[in-house]
Amino acid sequence: MLNATSVRVNGDLVQIRLRLTAMAEVLEERRHALATNLESTREEVFDELDRAQRISEVNFAIALESGIVDASSQLAHAIAVLDAGGYGLCEDCGARISAARLSFRPESTRCLTCQGTADSKHSAA
Ligand SMILES: [Zn+2]
Repeated sequence: MLNATSVRVNGDLVQIRLRLTAMAEVLEERRHALATNLESTREEVFDELDRAQRISEVNFAIALESGIVDASSQLAHAIAVLDAGGYGLCEDCGARISAARLSFRPESTRCLTCQGTADSKHSAA
């Protein structure tokens, strides 16, 4: 019984790892597309209005890219935690992360409570 359970969990972990890796690849492609887009328009000549518009687009793209970079590093972190055998456990309090949270955000390495605490510290800093 115990063996059957651990085999099933290991099988799930393989699936989760594939999912995390696929998500990381999608982010990498998106980041690449964003960089290419910024690069390709850099040489174009804009009038004043276009330039203002362009600046806000560039700022948006930069914010987007920084979000992608954060998400990518969280994914890489989740994969490292998974490989180390700690997947599904909160890295702050050690509680089991709910299956619902993990299926919604498989890259989670904190329970909802600790994530909330970490996020509020982050935004306060
Ligand atoms: Zn926790």
